[in-house]
Parts: sequence; structure tokens; C-alpha cells
Amino acid sequence: MSRGVLVTGASRGIGRAIATAFAEAGDQVVVHYGSAKGAAEDVVASLPGEGHAMVQADMADPEAVRAAVDSAAERLGRLDVLVNNAGIFVAHPPLETSYDGWQQAWSRTLATNLVGAANATFCAIPHLVAAGGGAVVNVSSRGAFRGEPDNPAYGASKAGLNAFAQSMALVLAPHDIRVGTVAPGFVQTEMAREVLEGPGGDAVRQQSPFGRVARPEEVASAVFWLASEGARFSSGTIIDVNGASYLRS
Ligand code: NAD
Repeated sequence: MSRGVLVTGASRGIGRAIATAFAEAGDQVVVHYGSAKGAAEDVVASLPGEGHAMVQADMADPEAVRAAVDSAAERLGRLDVLVNNAGIFVAHPPLETSYDGWQQAWSRTLATNLVGAANATFCAIPHLVAAGGGAVVNVSSRGAFRGEPDNPAYGASKAGLNAFAQSMALVLAPHDIRVGTVAPGFVQTEMAREVLEGPGGDAVRQQSPFGRVARPEEVASAVFWLASEGARFSSGTIIDVNGASYLRS
């Protein structure tokens, strides 16, 4: 049966790969975007199948998030899966950043990566319950476990997202809504381009014994599985997609 899926931040990168993975499986996908309308239109046009749509919202704006989630459910006729993928990675090295810059980095990062995902989840719950169950999948990061020396707010936002997902897995299980998390290491996208193309790029690739970073499709594959029926009893889990570059115990 075709599912209704909302993917945030799907106009490029990992979000685009996630939208494609669901559409290839026959699902109907709403591509959420922030400001890149043309790119979102390209993604929708590229998706196989029918009935895909797009919605706009700044993830840091609670009312815009509510309107986008409701609009996605309306266009799809139902909402079975929410993927909280949108995120930002803003450098703010603690020893080189002004206090003003520090404030901005923390508030923007938490508002987007953590509170934005929490708000989208809150707004999706009535639609997921109405659909008789479903899944929420969050895109977190290896940085939640390994640390982010130049982006501490990012690491904290993703650690918060992990904890949020675990709480929601508990409260939503009686409604047959699974909550899963994917924690990628570096992925070949625009977000990581500066690091991967910079002088430290080779060292980052060598963190994995595969000698490379992840492809967006490899993250999408884990997200897709977590949203599947077969992942029902894995609710609350966090899947690492980091090429064995950081092994948690
Ligand atoms: P990306 O920058 O290509 O995509 C991020 C998407 O989020 C973009 O489409 C952007 O428009 C959207 N977005 C950001 N802030 C927004 C806002 N306020 N409102 C609406 N949309 C907003 O990066 P990506 O690599 O595809 O990242 C996707 C997810 O994967 C993010 O949550 C990121 O933290 C996570 N991640 C990425 C990497 C990596 O190395 N690329 C590693 C670990 C985790």
C-alpha cells in the first residue's frame, strides 16, 4: 500500500535521496523546503510515481511548521511517515567566536535541528494517529556521540534529538507509531563540502576503514528501513551510518 511521507529539507542532499527512496518504493512524498523553491520543484519532478507535492516552511518558525505539516497531510490525504531531516551546521569554534556569534549559532542551531524537529513531530502526531499508526524517523549525527569541537551546538542539538526520539518512541508505541533515528558520519553533500574539499578532507575520509564518507543513498536506505513494518520492534533505536569510523559501545 502506498504511504504518505513528509521529508523535511528534501530539496537537496540526504533529504532528496530519502524522498527518492520512498517514491521508488511506490510511496507518495511531500518534499519540504526552506527557501530553494526551484530545487524542490526539480526534486518533485524527478520522483517516480504520482501524487508528490511540496511545502515550504522555515523549520525555526513554529507556526510555519504547523501549517506545512497540516498542508502535507491534506495533500497526501493521510500521513504515515515523517522524516525530520532538515538541519544546519554552523561553525562557531568556542575559542574564536564572539559571544554574539555564539548566541546566534546556538539559537539558530537548536531552533532548526532540535525544536524544529520536535515541532514537526508534535504537529504530525494527530495525522499519524488518524492513519492508524506510522513512523517518525530523525536524521541525527555521529557528532552527538563523538563531539563537534568547532560546532558544539550542532553536537548538542543532535544529542537532544536522540533523547527526544527515545522519549517519543515510548509515548507513541501504543498508537503503533515507531520512532527511529539515523546517525550518519560525514556524508557527501553540500553541508560537508567545505570540510571534504578542504585540507582536512583526506583525514576525514580515512576515519573510515572504507576510506571514504557516506553517500546520501546509504543514509536514505537506513531511514527507509526504519520506516518499514519490519522495523516496528526496533522503535527507539539509533542506526549508525558512518562506515565504522566511530564505533559506540
Ligand atoms: P544539506 O545542507 O544539503 O541539506 C539540509 C537541508 O535542510 C537543506 O535542504 C536546507 O534547506 C534544509 N534546512 C536547513 N535549515 C532549514 C530551515 N531553517 N528551514 C527549512 N529548511 C532548512 O545537508 P545534508 O547533508 O543533506 O543534511 C541533511 C541532514 O543530515 C541534516 O540534519 C544534517 O545535520 C544531517 N547530517 C549530515 C551530515 C553530512 O556530513 N552531510 C552528517 C551527519 C548528519
